Amino acid sequence: MQHTTPPVPLTLASRVDQVFPMLTPEQSARLAVHGQVRSVQRGEVLMEAGEQTPRFFVVTAGHLVIAQPAGVTEDPVAVLHPGQFTGEITMLSGRRGFVRIRAGEPGAVIEVERQHVLALVQTDSELSEILLRAFLLRRVELMAHGVSDVVLVGSRHSAGTLRIQEFLTRNGHPYSTIDLDRDADVQALLDRFQVTVDDVPVVICRGEVVLRNPTNGQLADCLGFNEAMDHTQVRDLVIVGAGPAGLSAAVYSASEGLDVLMLETHAPGGQAGSSSKIENYLGFPTGISGQELATRAYTQAQKFGAHLLIAQSAARLACDRKPYAIEIDHGPRVLARTIIIATGAAYRRLALTNLAQFEGVGVYYGATFVEAQVCGGEEVIVVGGGNSAGQAAVFLAQTARRVHILIRAGGLAASMSRYLIQRIAETPAIVLRPHTEITALEGGDHLERVRWRDNRTGTSETHAIRHVFAMTGAVPNTHWLQGCVALDAHGFIKTGADLSPEELAAARWPLARGPHLLETSLPGVFAVGDVRGGNIKRVASAVGEGSIAVAFVHQVLHE
Ligand SMILES: Cc1cc2nc3c(=O)[nH]c(=O)nc-3n(C[C@H](O)[C@H](O)[C@H](O)COP(=O)(O)OP(=O)(O)OC[C@H]3O[C@@H](n4cnc5c(N)ncnc54)[C@H](O)[C@@H]3O)c2cc1C
Repeated sequence: MQHTTPPVPLTLASRVDQVFPMLTPEQSARLAVHGQVRSVQRGEVLMEAGEQTPRFFVVTAGHLVIAQPAGVTEDPVAVLHPGQFTGEITMLSGRRGFVRIRAGEPGAVIEVERQHVLALVQTDSELSEILLRAFLLRRVELMAHGVSDVVLVGSRHSAGTLRIQEFLTRNGHPYSTIDLDRDADVQALLDRFQVTVDDVPVVICRGEVVLRNPTNGQLADCLGFNEAMDHTQVRDLVIVGAGPAGLSAAVYSASEGLDVLMLETHAPGGQAGSSSKIENYLGFPTGISGQELATRAYTQAQKFGAHLLIAQSAARLACDRKPYAIEIDHGPRVLARTIIIATGAAYRRLALTNLAQFEGVGVYYGATFVEAQVCGGEEVIVVGGGNSAGQAAVFLAQTARRVHILIRAGGLAASMSRYLIQRIAETPAIVLRPHTEITALEGGDHLERVRWRDNRTGTSETHAIRHVFAMTGAVPNTHWLQGCVALDAHGFIKTGADLSPEELAAARWPLARGPHLLETSLPGVFAVGDVRGGNIKRVASAVGEGSIAVAFVHQVLHE
């Protein structure tokens, strides 16, 4: 059995000084005020892998060994010397840690409870910067080296494997993989345990639980993503959807002292999280990947105390009661004084009868690093003439042999930004095919051939292309609201001045004042980002709306 991403000691990592910074005696003393100094014995385990609420240690004498338990032995990850400290992102999220912390020799540490670390990163800006940078970089290193409590046994040709890879990657959870297509021994082992094709991928979670083709929710439960969350509390604000709009609302509301809970079906970042590079977001002249933006924003929201429930979808809003109640799919309900709806919109699907057969195994709705790996060196099709299609084409052209952009229109000028049109024109590997649409998909377990038609000539051609990226617009995620708020003709949520007196009367608007900017026809319930009627479909506008809505949430809470 061979791990494709073997653990590598983090001490070999680049940027060692930033990943394992050394605190000055003054900085250590400031931490000691919030904890206790204690001695440690050689071999003493200060924290075991899988512990729920991580504690934080600064070495003051001797050394600590950070290791990943591997049966009766352990794989070393790092060694910390005096002035260096433990911890990574789980310190903020409160999730289970996945390394063991052991004293390598007799010595001493400053031990600080998690809640004191959380308070400190909000009040001590110098320590906050050092700690948060180290926590983030450590997670990046753990991800890069697959140091984790998850082993994914799967195949590149299985949609389930791709789904779980994306779920873990976008939730920033490291994992190592075993590729069944390359490792015949593992396939033989799975056969012996009667693991069938439908059971793939198999996930070994926290080194002990074996899950066969789990749902994202089952995996989230196993990894303890949503543990330590009080569901009975009435929150000042519940945010539904953790895309840029929801994350922005979380950062602003939590930093302004509100008690905030976010619900998210998949992973922080939303559509933007699947963007390979966002080049027009203010302050990032060389661009930033959607994944990185999402990770930073989520860390920021956690730093201020916002909570996030992962793989938990809002299934229904009980709007005839106060506080409002949001029922969660396969979960408890949560109670809220105010709500921000930031559920965005879902991709429009291609009108092809056998589309579902190839979704995830040849048809994709996002072009991230994961998909780019899968179709490296091959020909691919991008369908659509908007900016997301343009970005996907430019990104995929870096690894694909040829990228065909299929559009029904005669050109891109009306639908795509000029800089992208120019990028496409300058990239020889990209071929633009106007007036063209896909008419058939063919294949078995995986997409193998695509037929397209030139609508001007009526001629059809079949090509041996195994990857299609559908980037053709979106429909709003408002089905769960079931009549609670007024929608426009396309199902997007109407807010503020867009609501007519007739619509407000029909909604029985009860207040003397009219709806605030971004407020829906239900008092105290706001809609922001791509789910809102008249939205701008930009990360910046989604982020801006999230912050504006919070200003009005305060007003509603004081009414
Ligand atoms: C590939 C791609 C590239 C893009 N590139 C750019 C760019 O370069 N620049 C730019 O400005 N914009 C870009 N955009 C547009 C930008 O990403 C969106 O406008 C932005 O993400 C909208 O943010 P949002 O938070 O409103 O919605 P979304 O990002 O769609 O997030 C909504 C979130 O809500 C969750 N959700 C949905 N329903 C539920 C439910 N019932 N319960 C719980 N959670 C739910 C979803 O899982 C999702 O995470 C791009 C979009 C795509 C797809």
